[in-house]
Amino acid sequence: MSEGTKNQPANASRDELNPFHSMAHQFGLAADLLELDEGTRDVLRQPDRELTVSMPVMMDDGTIEVFTGYRVQHNFSRGPCKGGIRFAPDVNLDEVRALAAWMTWKCSVVDIPFGGGKGGVICDPRNLSQGELERLTRRYTASIMDILGPDRDVPAPDMNTNEQTMAWIMDTYSMHVRRTTTAVVTGKPIAIGGSKGRREATGRGVMLVCREAMKKLGRSPEDTRVVVQGCGNVGGVGALLLHREGYKVVSVSDMYGALYNPDGLDMPAVMDHLRGSGRLEGYSSADYIVNSEGQLELPCELLIPAATENQITSKNADRIQAELVVEGANGPTTSRGQEILDSRGIMVVPDILANAGGVTVSYFEWVQDRMGYFWTEEIVNSRLEQVMVRAFHSVADMAEKHNVNLRTGAYLVAIDRVARVYRMRGVFA
Ligand code: NAD
Repeated sequence: MSEGTKNQPANASRDELNPFHSMAHQFGLAADLLELDEGTRDVLRQPDRELTVSMPVMMDDGTIEVFTGYRVQHNFSRGPCKGGIRFAPDVNLDEVRALAAWMTWKCSVVDIPFGGGKGGVICDPRNLSQGELERLTRRYTASIMDILGPDRDVPAPDMNTNEQTMAWIMDTYSMHVRRTTTAVVTGKPIAIGGSKGRREATGRGVMLVCREAMKKLGRSPEDTRVVVQGCGNVGGVGALLLHREGYKVVSVSDMYGALYNPDGLDMPAVMDHLRGSGRLEGYSSADYIVNSEGQLELPCELLIPAATENQITSKNADRIQAELVVEGANGPTTSRGQEILDSRGIMVVPDILANAGGVTVSYFEWVQDRMGYFWTEEIVNSRLEQVMVRAFHSVADMAEKHNVNLRTGAYLVAIDRVARVYRMRGVFA
C-alpha cells in the first residue's frame, strides 16, 4: 500500500490544501516504485532529531517575554542538515518537521552533500523592534547551539528572516566557540562570508530548468509566452532572467494584482517601477488586473507559480492554458491539481527541483567559507548551471525510465540517493 493511501483520509478536499500531505503522498509513490523496505521507509519518514526551546527575551519596555522555537533535523545521512529558519506567529512543530523533510529531498535531488533541517520561532516580527529581534535571534541561536555547526546543521533565511538575522546567528555562534565561524549559516551579507550570486540563485535556477524543459518540448524562447505569479526574489528575478533570454513575459503579479501585456512586458522597466513604488500597480505600459485570481489562466506556454502554496488545485487546474508549469514556489500545486495537469498532458517541473538553485548556491557559500576563498559571480553562476542542468536531466531520465511524471521522477532520484547512502553507512547500534 502506498503511503499516500495510508496517510490520506477519505476527505481529500480537506486534505488537498495541506502541502505536507502532498509530500507524504509523493514519498509513498516513489517508495513503492523503489520497492523500499518498511524499515528504510520508517527511517526516512521520521526526523532524526527535534528540539523545542523556550527563550526568555528582555523586551524594550523592561518586561520579559518567553518565546518558543524549534529546530528539526530530518536526515543527515548525506551531510550536515540544511534549511531555513522562519519567524512567524503560526509556526508549529508539524510544519517545521515537514519542511525539514522537504529539504532532505531538495538537497538530494540536486546532489549537494547536505541533509534536511528547518527551524522556526513563534513570534510576530511586525510587533518586534530591531533590538528585540536581535535579542530573540541571539537567544534562539544560543539555545540550539549544541546541534548547530558547519558540520552539523547550517541554517539559512526563510520567511521573515534575512541577511541581518544570519549575521546575528553567525556572530552569536562565533562568540560561543571563540572563533569566527562563517560557515555556520548561509545567506549572509557578502562582507561577512556571503556568496556572490546567492540572492539571484533561486530565480536563476528557475530560468535554467525552464530552458531545459523547453528544449524537451521543442520550443524556443521567442515563441514562448510566460506568466509569472509573484514578483519577489524568485518570481521577479526569474522573470527578468527569462526576459533577458528572449522569452516573452506577458504577465507578472504581486499580492495586490497582476500586470498583463500580450505583446510582452519590458521586465527591467517593470522591476525598476517595483523597486521605486513597492508595487506593480501604476506601471503604465500594461493592463493592471486588480483581482489577480485569473492570472494563472491567462494564455501562455510557460506558467511559473512563484508566490505561495496551493495555487493550482482541483478548482482551476482544468483551466490552465500553459504547456509547462515550473514551480518557483514551494508547494504551489496540490496532488489533485497535479493529477488534472497530468491528465491534460501539461508538464510540471516540481518545486524540489525547480527552486533548488537557492540551496545550491548556499552550498557554494558554505564551501567558500570553509576554503576562505571566494569565487567570482561568473564562477558561481556557471557552477549553478552545471548542477541545475545535471539535476534536471537525471530527474527527466528517471521519470522516463519509470514512465511517471517529473515530480515522481524527482522524488525517485532524491529518495534513492538518501536510501543508498543510508544502507552504505549501516545502522549504528
Ligand atoms: P518574496 O517575499 O521575495 O516574494 C513573494 C512575491 O509573491 C511577492 O511579489 C508577493 O507580493 C507575491 N505574492 C504573495 N502572495 C501572492 C498571491 N496570492 N498572488 C500573487 N502574488 C503573490 O518571496 P520569494 O523568496 O520570492 O519566495 C516565493 C516562494 O518561493 C515561496 O514559496 C518560497 O518558499 C519559495 N522559495 C524561495 C526561495 C528563495 O531563495 N527565496 C528558495 C526556494 C523556494
